[in-house]
Amino acid sequence: MVIGIPKEIKNNESRVGMTPAGVLELVQKGHTVYVQTGAGLGSGFTDGDYKKVGAHILDTIGQVYAISEMIVKVKEPIAEEYGMVQKNQIVFTYFHFASSLQLTEAMMESKAICIAYETVEESDGSLPLLTPMSEVAGRMAIQQGAKYLEKPKKGRGVLLGGVPGVPPGRVLVLGAGVVGIQAAKMAAGLGAHVTILDINMKRLRYVNDVMPPHVVTEFSNEFNIRKHVATHDLIVGGVLVKGGRAPKLITRDMLKLMHPGAVIVDVAVDQGGCVETSHPTTHEDPVFIIDDVVHYCVANMPGAVPYTSTLALTNVTLPYVLELADKGWEAACADNPCLNKGLNIIRGEVVHDGIAEAFGFDE
Ligand code: NAD
Repeated sequence: MVIGIPKEIKNNESRVGMTPAGVLELVQKGHTVYVQTGAGLGSGFTDGDYKKVGAHILDTIGQVYAISEMIVKVKEPIAEEYGMVQKNQIVFTYFHFASSLQLTEAMMESKAICIAYETVEESDGSLPLLTPMSEVAGRMAIQQGAKYLEKPKKGRGVLLGGVPGVPPGRVLVLGAGVVGIQAAKMAAGLGAHVTILDINMKRLRYVNDVMPPHVVTEFSNEFNIRKHVATHDLIVGGVLVKGGRAPKLITRDMLKLMHPGAVIVDVAVDQGGCVETSHPTTHEDPVFIIDDVVHYCVANMPGAVPYTSTLALTNVTLPYVLELADKGWEAACADNPCLNKGLNIIRGEVVHDGIAEAFGFDE
């Protein structure tokens, strides 16, 4: 199959759909890979790195779309790319169709085969192509939180690890899912005292089993949250209600209970946020302060660490890319129910219930 890797042109996106390691595997299996010049630079890969493993470099994004049977990328095509997507072309990327009617209609019109990373689903309901980005965001939450706790960043001036003779900082993690566990692990590694809350007892049992004793689990309810916000320096919001908006676990009045200079990193801000006072921010201007509490609410945290994020993403996408390239989309999706769940639009027809419901296509 002929596979194309365009450069991402969405604002501030430095990741790339495939690493040289992925290209090598495809080429070894007899596939042809075209990479747009400069596509990997933001993630640290040069054209030379791709050429060495057998990729062909093309000058323009238009050439990549025109020649490829399958496009592998990171973010959804933006308006400039809509006209480039070809009839019958497989486009394998994050789409998040339900949040954009314009994108959905454009991809229907293209008559392409749109397979969305975010809806590829394992039999246990987990989302293997979203997990690595939550892992990145969870780990980053502590790095960012520690930075904004510093006084010059308007924080409380607390060192999370403490020092001999001075107690460590206190980190409250809301949600013991992928983000929450990674955040708790990083905070515990720094020596902070960690409290982690969830409503799922299975998750809390797991955390209790695998984490050191200075990570304390507690059931998530308003009473406990109100109690803990007053005594913690850094709060990480990592809750998710599948298919819904995040519940507002920290209400505006709770900010008054917190230490001045305490920090909230609301990772769940991409689903509306679990803090009433959150709103999405960007890497250029990541924080704002309300009631002396620093809010960090960047909606695409992994974008700040494109090298790690690209490797983490392509580690999990590559097996599916290989399957699609080897068998073609119809046989690959028929053989692999996980991949089949990724099918969103087939030649103009929306085949995913969530998207059809979002826009009333199912009525
Ligand atoms: P997950 O499903 O693995 O974990 C969510 C956890 O929240 C679950 O364990 C669930 O039981 C728990 N939960 C639900 N309601 C709760 C409540 N009332 N109190 C406490 N816990 C509750 O999800 P995840 O992969 O960890 O993702 C968490 C959030 O982070 C999602 O909104 C995701 O979109 C977001 N995210 C954001 C970024 C970013 O850059 N900002 C990056 C990756 C993920």
